[in-house]
Amino acid sequence: MEIGLSRKELVNILKDESEDVLKSLIDQSYSVKLANVGESVYLRGLVEISNICRKNCLYCGIRSENRIQRYLLTEDEIIQQGEYALKQGYGSVVLQGGERCDSEFIDMIERVIIRLKGLSESVQDSVYNRPLGITLSLGEQSKETYQRWFEAGAHRYLLRIETSNPTLYSKIHPNNPLHSHTTRLKALNFLRECGYQVGSGVMIGLPYQTIEDLADDLIFLKDWGIDMCGMGPYIPHHKSPLYGLTIPEDNIRFTISLKMVALLRLLMPDINIAATTAMQTLHPYGRELAIKAGANVMMPNLTPSRAAKEYLLYEKKPTHIEDNKNDIFKNPDIKFGYHLWGDSPRFLSKNSK
Ligand code: SAH
Ligand code: SF4
Repeated sequence: MEIGLSRKELVNILKDESEDVLKSLIDQSYSVKLANVGESVYLRGLVEISNICRKNCLYCGIRSENRIQRYLLTEDEIIQQGEYALKQGYGSVVLQGGERCDSEFIDMIERVIIRLKGLSESVQDSVYNRPLGITLSLGEQSKETYQRWFEAGAHRYLLRIETSNPTLYSKIHPNNPLHSHTTRLKALNFLRECGYQVGSGVMIGLPYQTIEDLADDLIFLKDWGIDMCGMGPYIPHHKSPLYGLTIPEDNIRFTISLKMVALLRLLMPDINIAATTAMQTLHPYGRELAIKAGANVMMPNLTPSRAAKEYLLYEKKPTHIEDNKNDIFKNPDIKFGYHLWGDSPRFLSKNSK
């Protein structure tokens, strides 16, 4: 099934700049994708629920030190977007936001999950009377919080490791216990222990990052045994401390990101891999190309416009209107898995044994 690739082979492929190597890698990974997860691309409506964050990551536009208009969507606003997702046939939503660990926030998320789970009945024209799938991406939390949200009905969680290299991690985060690689790893383990399908990923083309780091990231994701992956290029934000540091050109970060997707598909044939917004930001057909390189999940942005302009993790991030400018939904080459959860086949087979 999976294709074994040594660290050295991964490094060589990532470093090789020839078109032929890129093309044959993508052809191979697309056929591995078809054979293992099929051609469907599953949809999760992305609702960016809040830009209030207790952290201060050195790459991020909504870091706590930045003076921006902070917002938290109301429970009703989130539910409305859930209803919209159901009507569109998206099957799932992702609730993403800055990291907050206070009890008011934790209670609110729990209530929202329960309400979202009850939605399918109230949407009259729902073809499939099935509740929404719920993915969370709300940062590091205690195991107890993760457990509460899981029991409320969330079943997938995205927590990027950002980089598998602890030294690099410490260069792109403030040096304090709130930003600890070890804690992030522990949180990933909690998520698995609670029963979630666990997604992780990295940023590609960070300052100080080497190609060897990226090969190690792929090996980390495989060895840890993720069920899902969301990864994409690092995109500088002018209000962040890393802005201005040397990074590879946009087109190089984009091509390396495509290769990372393709290589991960070869290493982990039956996981879910997202075609991320950051790929779309660097290339007008970024998501389409990621899908051709092995991705099988897409997250159309459903954040209400009053909030979307304040959720700028990085510059030029498309909002939901721009998001669909090239109308990927009309692309005859892409088959979307409407009304389905599209759970990670790896997770399902692991748990049926
Ligand atoms: N606060 C949560 C979820 C929101 S941030 C968390 O951090 O886990 C979601 C992801 O956005 C982060 O994991 C990071 O990988 C990505 N991100 C933040 N700033 C970015 C930037 N400048 N370029 C590319 N991705 C970025
Ligand atoms: Fe907060 Fe996530 Fe941005 Fe870090 S990456 S500052 S945790 S929103």
